[in-house]
Amino acid sequence: MHELALSQGIIDVIREQAAVQGFTRVKTVRLVIGTLSHVEPEAIEFGFDAVSRGTIAEGATLAIERPPGEAFCLSCEKPVPLAERFDPCPDCGGHQLVVTGGEELRVKELEVE
Ligand SMILES: [Zn+2]
Repeated sequence: MHELALSQGIIDVIREQAAVQGFTRVKTVRLVIGTLSHVEPEAIEFGFDAVSRGTIAEGATLAIERPPGEAFCLSCEKPVPLAERFDPCPDCGGHQLVVTGGEELRVKELEVE
């Protein structure tokens, strides 16, 4: 149900933007879902489909970007790619990592008419 709540949150963002910008129809919703965010894009699509019915976002296409995980390794003192949250550093094998990217979940842009 996590994704359903998130989908509802996306609709809330769209409603707020519609009130501010005065658009009446949303064609595309560009979402950023980081690969470390533990959110399934398919589940968001499914949830969005359900909660958007009867709203100005009904029938809108979801365009989902999946930025990869990124961390800063304190041992290597440099940024490294991170496939999974608790993976070791790909360079030194250490766990002194600070996650710096890939956890985001946000509405990046709305294409409206
Ligand atoms: Zn390292």
